[in-house]
Amino acid sequence: MIRHEYIDQYIRNTIKRETGILKELEQYAMEHGVPIIQPEVARMLSVIIRIHKPEKVLEVGTAIGYSAITIAGVLGEKGLIDTVEISEEKAILANDNIYRAGLKHRINIIVGDAADVLKCLDKNYDMIFMDAAKGQYPDLLPECLRMLNSGGVLISDNILFKGLTAKEQVKRKNRTISNRLKQYLSELCNHPDLETSIIPIGDGVSISYKK
Ligand code: MG
Repeated sequence: MIRHEYIDQYIRNTIKRETGILKELEQYAMEHGVPIIQPEVARMLSVIIRIHKPEKVLEVGTAIGYSAITIAGVLGEKGLIDTVEISEEKAILANDNIYRAGLKHRINIIVGDAADVLKCLDKNYDMIFMDAAKGQYPDLLPECLRMLNSGGVLISDNILFKGLTAKEQVKRKNRTISNRLKQYLSELCNHPDLETSIIPIGDGVSISYKK
């Protein structure tokens, strides 16, 4: 949470919340300490997808499949998601959850380190959701931009890192990640082909439009 607690609570109590399998996965994530997108980020993703109507989506960081299921649930008839997960254990869990959600035909899980996987992918996407290890973001950006179609959208999660990205003095243990996120946001905001908005919901989300 990076704003006032009472504002977060108000937003969470006001927006439409998940039911069924997604609600179940929220419970699982809480109990097992798995980071998943926060409710207000899920709603924003859903709204952007309904507006943007992407057909091909790349997600970097599957975890237990919560966001892939959220995205697939609002994609149009032709929508497909490739999602990359470094942990085989999490990928197996995600696969199971995606199957139970009845979305197996929409979501393709690729197991491997995004740094290697993205280099080997030779596809184009209308939307990319970046939700991997934060320290990796700047290294993954060139590959994402190579595959993102003109008119496409890159959405990046956790870019404010509990607010630490915005601080000048950061404890040594968090310094590398906050510096890498600063670098990432600077690249997103100064790239000639991108227009980027930084939104302080959840753990911080950026939306970049590729011209
Ligand atoms: Mg995240």
